[in-house]
Amino acid sequence: MARRKIVAGNWKMNMTPSEAVKLVEELKPLVASETVDVVFCVPAIDIVPVVEAVKGTNIAVGAENMYFEDKGAFTGEISADMLLDAGVKYVILGHSERRDYFKEDDVLLNKKVKKAFEKGLTPILCCGESLEQREMGVTMDWIRLQIKSDLVDVTAEQVASMVIAYEPIWAIGTGKTATTEQAQEVCKGIRELIAEMYDEATAEAVRIQYGGSVNAATAADLFSQPDIDGGLVGGAALKPDFGKIVNY
Ligand code: PEP
Repeated sequence: MARRKIVAGNWKMNMTPSEAVKLVEELKPLVASETVDVVFCVPAIDIVPVVEAVKGTNIAVGAENMYFEDKGAFTGEISADMLLDAGVKYVILGHSERRDYFKEDDVLLNKKVKKAFEKGLTPILCCGESLEQREMGVTMDWIRLQIKSDLVDVTAEQVASMVIAYEPIWAIGTGKTATTEQAQEVCKGIRELIAEMYDEATAEAVRIQYGGSVNAATAADLFSQPDIDGGLVGGAALKPDFGKIVNY
């Protein structure tokens, strides 16, 4: 069965709650689609008003992070139950900004991935190499290590339902998109890894996005590749261009 495309916007630390609602109202008609899953991953404080604003549309809401504990003395953190109760369906885990600025490692991310599944959230698990790693020729080794570590004790059925986002760090927010060939090569490598770790059916089912300076001009070519099932979009997700990316 053909995989359904999924295009997710990562708003990062942008948009106050009132700005968020205005942006949703502007984007709603532009991102309407019967063929592509559309997700707005928004800052925690915007979740409640955005869930309200997207009611009755094709837009699902995602979080940009969550903690792996259920509740308790974890000041500043947000649990899976809190996200679910607010109407969230997806959660970005392991974005390179969280790995880099907030020192999230694969052991922590594995706990978060397992908690997301346990509670019924769909993880959008990010992986990707730095420019130095690409130049050293270890891109695929690095990504294999990230995915293998992040998916310890995760079942085939769970993996089949998740989203993996390949995001080369050097292409995030830099305006440098990976070439279509580079993006396809790594996404194919990820699918082959999932087949190796699980089986062919799981590899065929898992959705793999490309992320890194995707824009209205590059989306069609990228998303038409056999192993790229849509995109994780940062900067362009805050503009009307996001509609063009969804309807590439
Ligand atoms: C991202 O934040 O996941 C991202 C890909 O950002 P940008 O599209 O701005 O490069």
